[in-house]
Amino acid sequence: MKKDKTEIRYDILSNEWIIISPKRGARPNNFQEIKDCPFCDIEDQEEPKHYFYKGKENKEKKWTTIVIPNKFPVFEEDCTIEEIIENNLYVKKISPGFHDLIVTKEHDKFISDLPSDRVEEFFVCIKSLLIEYKKSGIVKQVAIFHNRGEKAGASQPHPHYQALALPIIEREHQNELNNFKKFYSKNNKCLHCEINKIEKGNKKRLIAENDDFIAFCPFAPKMLFQIIISPKRHTSSFDQIGEKEIKSLSKIFKKILLKYDNGFDSLDYNFFLHNSPLDKEYPYFHWYWSFSPRINCFGGLEMGFGLEISPMTPEEQAKILRKM
Ligand SMILES: [Zn+2]
Ligand SMILES: [Zn+2]
Repeated sequence: MKKDKTEIRYDILSNEWIIISPKRGARPNNFQEIKDCPFCDIEDQEEPKHYFYKGKENKEKKWTTIVIPNKFPVFEEDCTIEEIIENNLYVKKISPGFHDLIVTKEHDKFISDLPSDRVEEFFVCIKSLLIEYKKSGIVKQVAIFHNRGEKAGASQPHPHYQALALPIIEREHQNELNNFKKFYSKNNKCLHCEINKIEKGNKKRLIAENDDFIAFCPFAPKMLFQIIISPKRHTSSFDQIGEKEIKSLSKIFKKILLKYDNGFDSLDYNFFLHNSPLDKEYPYFHWYWSFSPRINCFGGLEMGFGLEISPMTPEEQAKILRKM
C-alpha cells in the first residue's frame, strides 16, 4: 500500500468505516492565511471537468459554474483496489472514487445571493455529476454537501460545493436505508412520502411549500433550526429530477437559505443531499436536502453517546423560521 493513498479502515467496535487521507492534511486554510483566492481563476490552475453557462453544459469553456477535480482528494478515480486484513481482525482497503468541487463564479455570492436561473444551473450541474458517477460503475454512496463558514468546516471563503462518490456506504446512511426498507416492507409505502403527508397536513413544523417541494423542521431534529426540503414526487435519486422541479427547488432552496442569512447574525451551516447509493436501484428510498446550522456546541453527551439535546421544540423553531 502506498503511503499517501487514502485508506478506508473498518472500526469493528462501532461497525463504521473511517477514512484516513494524508493528502487532506496538506490543504491550505485561506481563512487564516490571507493570499490570492485559488478559486477566482480556477480554470488556469486545474483542468476543469465541466463548464456550465446559462443553465447548460458549455463546450466553449464559458462558465458561471465549473466542476474541477479536488486538488486534495479523499478518493481518486484511478487507483487499484486493495484489501488487507491484519491480525485476523483489522480490515483496511483502498478503492477508487471521485472527489470534485463545484465552484460558482463570484467570490462573494452564495447560493442565496444568486438569481434563480443560476441556482437552477447549480442543480443542473449536480444532476449531471450524479449521472456521470452512476455510469462509472465504481461508486456506492454519493455525498454532495456545502460547508458555509469556518465553523461548518469551510477552508476557503469563495463559495464552493463538494461532490464525493464513495466506494462504501457509511453507517448512518446504511442505517437510514435500512429504516426506509423496513417501513416499505411493512406498510407498502415510502417513509418520506408518509412524513411529507403528515407535515403538510398538520403544518406544525412546516416552513414553506410550493408545487413540487415542502420545507419543514424534522419531528426529532439533530441540530437547532435544522430544516429538510423534500420533493413531493417520490424518486430515490436526484438525477431523476425534472426541469420544472429544478425551478421549484431553486425557489424554495433560496427561500430557506435567506431565512438563515437574514434571521441570524452571520450563521455558519452545512447542507447535504441525502440520495440513494448509485450502485443499484433503491426504490424504497426518497431523496431530500437537509440543512444544519452550526449553533449548538457538541459536548461529551453528543460526542460520546450520540445524544443530541435541543433547548427548543421543533414546533417552536418552525414558528420562528416562518416569521423570518
Ligand atoms: Zn475567489
Ligand atoms: Zn417517497
